[in-house]
Amino acid sequence: MNGVNNLRHHGRVVLVTGAASGIGAAIAERYCVEGAAVALLDADEVKVSQRGMALREQGYKVAWHQADVSDFAQCEIACQALTSELGSVDTLINNAGVSPKHDGQPASIWSMSPEEWNWVVGINLTGSFNLARALSPNMVEQRYGRIVNMSSVAGSAFLPIVAAHYSATKAAIIGFTRHLAGELGPHGINVNALAPGRIETPMVKSVSDEANEAVIAETPLRRLGQPDEVAQAACFLTSNESDFITGQVIDVAGGWLMR
Ligand code: NAD
Repeated sequence: MNGVNNLRHHGRVVLVTGAASGIGAAIAERYCVEGAAVALLDADEVKVSQRGMALREQGYKVAWHQADVSDFAQCEIACQALTSELGSVDTLINNAGVSPKHDGQPASIWSMSPEEWNWVVGINLTGSFNLARALSPNMVEQRYGRIVNMSSVAGSAFLPIVAAHYSATKAAIIGFTRHLAGELGPHGINVNALAPGRIETPMVKSVSDEANEAVIAETPLRRLGQPDEVAQAACFLTSNESDFITGQVIDVAGGWLMR
């Protein structure tokens, strides 16, 4: 991994959703490197246990649990299990998300089933509520908490490479973030969002090379982002270095779609 290797998150307990792949996996690893105990939560039981075991073999303090973030009861069970293993979670990274494609293309509004719409809303939006709902009472009690929600540049710009449900949920995450920042700030809890551009993960590889080349051509830094670059932004936003930053949406996009 590139970048800083300080222990600024030593003593913290961080829960990362969607931690088995892509950006979530990079975030989990980055917090390990920076000294935190890390709880990995993912719907994919095999992949999350492989990730967890690989980190544990490197000597990091980790625990993992399979759960579907769209299901509140599953989230509660996972949070209880992870908390009893690692201690009270003070940092939540709501990263799990889906961007389904139809034959490599985003669904048009008329080809999107109501079931698909609800499925995406359930994971990308309700999932973030579910984890914040489950973990914030403890943060309030401790008078300390940090939450980062994963939005996207698609939350505030038209992107032809994603579909309406995806953009709608990523915009809603911004409203959710600002509201929570206002509501939880007096309790010592900072809430921010990240808005990645195109980051090289399995999600991005689900569209054509041409589509990604077109994004690169429109990006001032002329490349796609790396998962660890999003992870570094998450670590910054939950560190003491950003104690006075809350309710903000930070693009990690190489300047693509500056707004
Ligand atoms: P990814 O597909 O590589 O990983 C997503 C992870 O979420 C997977 O491990 C998957 O198993 C997990 N997941 C899916 N549904 C779940 C559920 N119901 N419950 C628990 N876990 C579930 O995706 P990624 O590219 O790493 O994206 C991570 C986040 O970043 C998403 O919220 C995505 O919308 C956002 N994002 C990604 C990009 C990008 O370019 N990759 C850009 C902007 C925003």
